[in-house]
Amino acid sequence: MSTREPHTGREPDGAAPHPGPLGHPGPLGDVLVTTPSFGQTSRAPWEVFEAAGAAARRSAFAHPLAEAQLRAEIRDMEALVVGLDPVTAAVLAAAPRLRVVAKHGVGTDNIDLDAARERGVRVVNAPGTNTGAVADLTFALLLAAARKIVPAHAAVTGGRWDRFFGPELGGRTLGVIGFGRIGQAVARRAHGFDMDVVAYDPHLPAEVFAAAGVRSVPFDELLAAADVVTLHMPLMSDRPLLGRRELTALRPGALVLNTARGGLVDEDALADLLHSGHLGGAGIDVFSTEPPVGNRLLEAPGVVLTPHCAAFSDQANRAMGTAVAADVVRVLRGEAPVNAVV
Ligand code: NAD
Repeated sequence: MSTREPHTGREPDGAAPHPGPLGHPGPLGDVLVTTPSFGQTSRAPWEVFEAAGAAARRSAFAHPLAEAQLRAEIRDMEALVVGLDPVTAAVLAAAPRLRVVAKHGVGTDNIDLDAARERGVRVVNAPGTNTGAVADLTFALLLAAARKIVPAHAAVTGGRWDRFFGPELGGRTLGVIGFGRIGQAVARRAHGFDMDVVAYDPHLPAEVFAAAGVRSVPFDELLAAADVVTLHMPLMSDRPLLGRRELTALRPGALVLNTARGGLVDEDALADLLHSGHLGGAGIDVFSTEPPVGNRLLEAPGVVLTPHCAAFSDQANRAMGTAVAADVVRVLRGEAPVNAVV
């Protein structure tokens, strides 16, 4: 018998809400889904599992799960679909039947890839499925920070007719750090707004920048040239890429955008430089700790903050879910996944 759970998402394809936990093991294997956004705007991702005979169910715990909760729930699972939950070596060790971990998104910094490799567990993600969504939100943050839309809205709804000034984007320089899928999509949008774009990405050949009409520059040159800095690279270390030195090196009035990972920016230094007036504003979707309770950016002037929702377009939600579900099914069938990380 299937059990039902409340469905919170919209169904643009007109389908009935997904029943959620199926309550019985499928012949292909059991799949635990921890991220609440999986299959939220469309039931197509769930249908991939149903059609393949995999029994997918949502976690009983709120996302992101603590390590102990994950260990408790994963014990009999063949597959795991996660968001930002900590898939540590201890979690993997608690799941002897586990064959695949799927990241419902792109960044796999919350998954111990070495431990997965050692245990022969495949790791897959969904590159490219949320590129447009993240690039759109990055631009929404940029326009909102530049033209002070959040305080303007608050003024109007508060009965005040205050006026707000801010820079036009045309002719300004956007510095893109990490020129992969999302960085390039942001650059395309910036060109549409008549911005000059420079980029730093030490892993790409010159042709990639040339094809995009973007100048490739060394890191420090980008910091010195940019009116707006935007981050689109993975989190690789505990040391923030934009620390106090780098943020201080930015031009007076520069804007900082982060839709990549919170740990890439020294948040205290950013808050200090916003308070001092050296920086003109910031658009932030990701935080070193989420939710960002007590984070000084919450009180900093000129910020536009969103709850790690850059990937949450209707289209990306469907595309991310179906991509990871299809790869989970491939692994459970003994086939090679399309988007293998490990
Ligand atoms: P991608 O792999 O296509 O691009 C990442 C780029 O970063 C690559 O070109 C790589 O060469 C570059 N890079 C790696 N190390 C670098 C370094 N030290 N300095 C400069 N560049 C470096 O990935 P993508 O799809 O463009 O996603 C980029 C990042 O965005 C992801 O790693 C993820 O953390 C983040 N992301 C966030 C959200 C969100 O909801 N806010 C959603 C999707 C992705």
